[in-house]
Parts: sequence; C-alpha cells; structure tokens
Amino acid sequence: MIKLTIPPIGKQELRSVVEVLKSGQLIQGKKVEDFESMVAHYLGAKEAVAVSSGTAALHLALLALDIGPGDQVIVPDFTYPATANVVEVVGAKPILVDIDKDTFNINVSSWERKITKRTKAIIPVHLFGQSADMPSVLKAARRHNLFVIEDAACALGAEYNGLKCGVMGHLGCLSFHPRKILTTIEGGMLLTNNAPLAKKLKMLRNHGTRQKDNKVEFLMAGLNYRMSNIQAAMGIEQMKRLDRMILKRQQIAKKYSQYLSGIPWLKTPFVDHAAKHTFQSYILLMDSLSSRNRLISFLRKKRIEANIGTYAVHLLPYYRHKYHFQKNDFPVSAEAFDRSLALPIFPGLKDENIKYIVKQIRNFDA
Ligand SMILES: *Cc1c(COP(=O)(O)O)cnc(C)c1O
Repeated sequence: MIKLTIPPIGKQELRSVVEVLKSGQLIQGKKVEDFESMVAHYLGAKEAVAVSSGTAALHLALLALDIGPGDQVIVPDFTYPATANVVEVVGAKPILVDIDKDTFNINVSSWERKITKRTKAIIPVHLFGQSADMPSVLKAARRHNLFVIEDAACALGAEYNGLKCGVMGHLGCLSFHPRKILTTIEGGMLLTNNAPLAKKLKMLRNHGTRQKDNKVEFLMAGLNYRMSNIQAAMGIEQMKRLDRMILKRQQIAKKYSQYLSGIPWLKTPFVDHAAKHTFQSYILLMDSLSSRNRLISFLRKKRIEANIGTYAVHLLPYYRHKYHFQKNDFPVSAEAFDRSLALPIFPGLKDENIKYIVKQIRNFDA
C-alpha cells in the first residue's frame, strides 16, 4: 500500500529518543526548551510554548485570552473540527464562515459582516500548508479590535508575502501530529511575541503553577498539556531537516500537478502567488461527490491510500443539531467537503510511486 503519509523518522530520532529514556529526565527538561527555541528561532517568534497537541495549543490560546461564555469567535467552516471544537469547549460560540473556492481558506469578505459586539477573536486556518490571506485578516481584525489566533497546524514553514505562518497574529498554534510536516507523534506549540502571554500559557499548560524560590505555587486553575522530552527530542532532529523536507513536498506537488494537468474532471491545487505552500496535503478537487468517492475506492483497490480533504464543520452532527445548519449555509465549504481528495505526499515518496498513482488516476473512468 502507498500510504497517505509516512512520518519522517530516521536514525537520529531513534538515537535521541533512547538517550532521553536513558537519562531519566522524561518531562520538563532541557529538551523541550531547546525544541521551543529552535522553532521560535526558525519562525522569528519571541516566545514558543510546547504542548501535548495542536488541539491543546488552540485550547490554551482561548483560555489565555480569557475567551469564554458570551464571546464569539470567527472560524472557517472548512477545517479539521478541532478549530471549532475548542471554541465550544471554552463555552464561547464559533461563528462559522465560508471559504475561498480556490485556496480553501477563510473568505474575508464573508466574515466581516458577521462581526458583532461579542466577537472577540478570529481563527484563520492555513489549510493544507497554504497561508490564509493574512493581510486582509489582520486589517479587518485591527479595524474591529479582534484577537487573531492562527491555526497553523498544517503550516509549519508556510509563508505569505515572505512572512511566516504562526507569527503574524497575536498567537499561532502548530501541530506535530503524524500527518503534519514535522511530527512528535502527538504534540503542538504556541507562538507569540507577547512575553506576559507566554508566561500565562506556560502556567496554564502546567496545572496553573509557577516555580518561585524552589517552591511550586498554584496560581491558576490550569491543565496538564506538557510535552515530554521524548517528543521534543524527535522534534529537534526533524527541525534540522525541516527546509529539506518542505522542499521535497513542494517538488512532489509540482510533479503531481504537471502530470495531472489537462484532466477535465479534476482540479489540481491552486497556489496563491503570495503564498509559500508547504503541501502538508496535496488536495484534488473532483467534479462530483460520486466521482470523488469512487476514485478513493478505485485507488484503494490499486493499493494507493487516498482520503477526503477535510470537514465542513456545519455538517457534523454536533453542529448541525445545535445550530440547525442546512447544507447550503456554507456552499463553498460543502462543495469542498464533498469533492476534495488527498493523495499520498511525504518526503520519501518515490518518483515511481508518483508515476504509478498518476497512471491509475488517468485510467479511472470518471
Ligand atoms: C491537525 C489539525 C488540528 C489538530 O491538531 P492535533 O495535534 O491533532 O490536535 C487542528 N487544526 C487543523 C487545521 C489541523 O489540521
């Protein structure tokens, strides 16, 4: 089977993980701090706070900004559901908005009119490794005095106009899940240039505690969202190869798009000229739900793993029931949910695999 992804775990990761295990220092050690500094330095952020997942990062972002009951948060409808779920979990209301049909990212013209006095923040998502139109997001957010929390779970290394995803808003959230560009198995990180905010995030991730004069003080009601040194050790090794891994993904995407051009029933990914797309996912848009589903099964029979792109939040049972959404409430997102398809992409994907996958797609009777 050609898998959707194979996490890039090499000898260096194995060696450094064993070192951590032998050291006995499993959590809250220097490894986590080193990993944080490496990512902060790479992205040009003043502060980085490692946590146990991308979802934990998003959750802490809302908690640290005191977003809760009575507040509203703008969230694009087409995203991994965690982006909206965390808003529900803190007791605030996600205000879903439709997406741009080409980039699959938040459509700024459709969200500005949804802002009310209760709107506290917006969570632009850089989906599949391509930055949202951040200049427009930031301009509108400034106009309405909103916090900008970037969901950069898919977008480590991605850029817009030369600016890095995750450090353009007030807070940025990364994920290191195995489907992402860099993986620590589970893991995530928050980025910010605001030192007091970073301090609060560090307390929230560790039971609301602060270390003072060799004593632990419990100052807030926090959580345990810590990252282990084993995870950080893996992350450090992959950070050393990050640019090469991204380049490899971009090269694979370019080949796919070249070899798949001219097929009338599918669209290859659109790349915004201002964006550096890192291709966390390579997403095709098919002409219908039925051909998309048939192509996924067809490819599986040919031992190629393909999957849907991601979810339209308003169509998930919890949101549909709670807010009485209809399918045409967010038409662009609903279409993308029905018609998108992810192909295998990871740095180790071989040329012959790409050619085999393309050949099978060309043989498919749409
Ligand atoms: C993966 C992902 C998340 C969640 O990250 P986890 O590390 O799996 O918790 C959130 N938002 C988006 C857009 C994602 O792709």
